[in-house]
Amino acid sequence: MKHGIGLPVYPGVAMGKPLVYRKPEAASSDVGTPEAEALKFHRACQEAKNQLSALAKIAREGLGGEQAEILEVQVLMLEDGELLEGVEAAIASGASAAEAVQQQGEAMAQDMAALDDDYLRGRAADIRDAAARVTGILRGSGTFSFPEGKFLLLAEDLAPSETVRLPRDRVLGLVTRQGSANSHTAILARTLNIPTLVQADMDLKDGENAKILAIDASCGEWFLDPDEETLARLKEKQSSLNHQQTGLDAYRDRETVTASGRKIQLFANVGSAEDVAEAQAVGAEGIGLYRSEFLYLGREKLPSEEELFEAYRTAAERMKGRSVIIRTLDIGADKQASYLNLPAEENPALGLRGLRLCLAHPELFLPQLRAIYRASAYGNLSLMFPMVTSLWELQEAKRLCTQVCLELEDDGVAYREIPIGIMIETPAAALEAREFAKEADFLSVGTNDLTQYTLAQDRQNAALERFFDPCHPALLKLLRSIAEAAGQAGIWAGICGELAGDATLAGMFLDMGYRELSMAPGRILEVRKTICEREETP
Ligand code: PEP
Ligand code: MG
Repeated sequence: MKHGIGLPVYPGVAMGKPLVYRKPEAASSDVGTPEAEALKFHRACQEAKNQLSALAKIAREGLGGEQAEILEVQVLMLEDGELLEGVEAAIASGASAAEAVQQQGEAMAQDMAALDDDYLRGRAADIRDAAARVTGILRGSGTFSFPEGKFLLLAEDLAPSETVRLPRDRVLGLVTRQGSANSHTAILARTLNIPTLVQADMDLKDGENAKILAIDASCGEWFLDPDEETLARLKEKQSSLNHQQTGLDAYRDRETVTASGRKIQLFANVGSAEDVAEAQAVGAEGIGLYRSEFLYLGREKLPSEEELFEAYRTAAERMKGRSVIIRTLDIGADKQASYLNLPAEENPALGLRGLRLCLAHPELFLPQLRAIYRASAYGNLSLMFPMVTSLWELQEAKRLCTQVCLELEDDGVAYREIPIGIMIETPAAALEAREFAKEADFLSVGTNDLTQYTLAQDRQNAALERFFDPCHPALLKLLRSIAEAAGQAGIWAGICGELAGDATLAGMFLDMGYRELSMAPGRILEVRKTICEREETP
């Protein structure tokens, strides 16, 4: 038996076959013969042109001219004789297809940037972007194939684009060597309700050689090939935890109200249709955060407006008139969709992510807005923008919403005018909450990112765990002032970061004036029990 510890991020006991997840191999970096590399280049170039043409079509339908033209110009750039000849010459002199495209794209971009003509200078970024798309395809990666049956997954770490591919009904538990309590792996574990340890001190090779892995994620322990006594002890604990969970069932259909009659709504955080079913099953009073980017991750191409519409409509219909808040695309930082071929960033958490990315790429944003508004006719939808920093971003996003509504009206498509809220995730938005509260219909605090940016702590960095303080006075001051700003403007404020699911903090949030807490479905019953049992002095 081998034994060690990890940081528990979702409690519970699990045992079963270990499966070690290895990152899928990136396409081989070996350089083939010039003929083979040239063939790879032409195939990747064709694939990039197909992607760009598809995006241009979406842009033209959604928004008309300008964005579509840029994408069409990028298609022409990839057919440009100078580019093709330059790449072929570099390949002939020994470069790999990816190196050749990168070099030639950069050389052409620099030539353009040096021109006098403003328009042509502006095209330098487009040629870089088009070349990056081709190299992205050339360096693209494969996928991991999961065997049959149930297992506990062991990994170095998991990116959101990997977690969405997990066969969720077969994962009994998760153990990662990296990760932090606020990482998206931890968030996924809470959403899926599976016992999880991060920062485990386990050698993955030992995991590969073991027959059984048992974890006690209530106290942060793991055991490889546990002896009989340990296994019996863990099984007993597992059944006592199941028993406690059954005790919470009584809170499933109750209102969340304290003994003195103060009410708060408990909503669920979801990322897929399965999560919506889970939210319903635990008596969520609504969906407070639909992480819509999960519909874009772990796949090979952009979801169509129709696919998005179906997902949102399903959520709206399933929740039967209860509120469903769809957060618009929050791609960037650790949530990457490789087919978008977005340029690498030095500091992605501070980069072109969330609403910033959507405003920079309306060809991505407008189809999503159209899908949300179309689905609004089928239930009680709201929309919410992530990573807002300045008021103009919200105003511009609202203008795009109006544009979409006008288009739907022209097309004779049914929609409703729905509440538009923002996430407060940056200190700037928190400090300007009063101004935002005049423009938004509600404010929902994303404490995961707000903590990261306020305390200057990368939420992915395992080494910062001891510095992480959800009750840091700076954070509490911001939280208090956000609720006050909402109250003064006569709108509601909620919390949808992971802190919302911490039963020990629920009373404090209620006292601050928060009217909604949105959390992993698996956390709702315990938080409801805590609020319903709250002793309050009059
Ligand atoms: C947050 O930042 O608190 C949040 C809810 O968004 P995400 O965790 O998806 O970044
Ligand atoms: Mg966030």
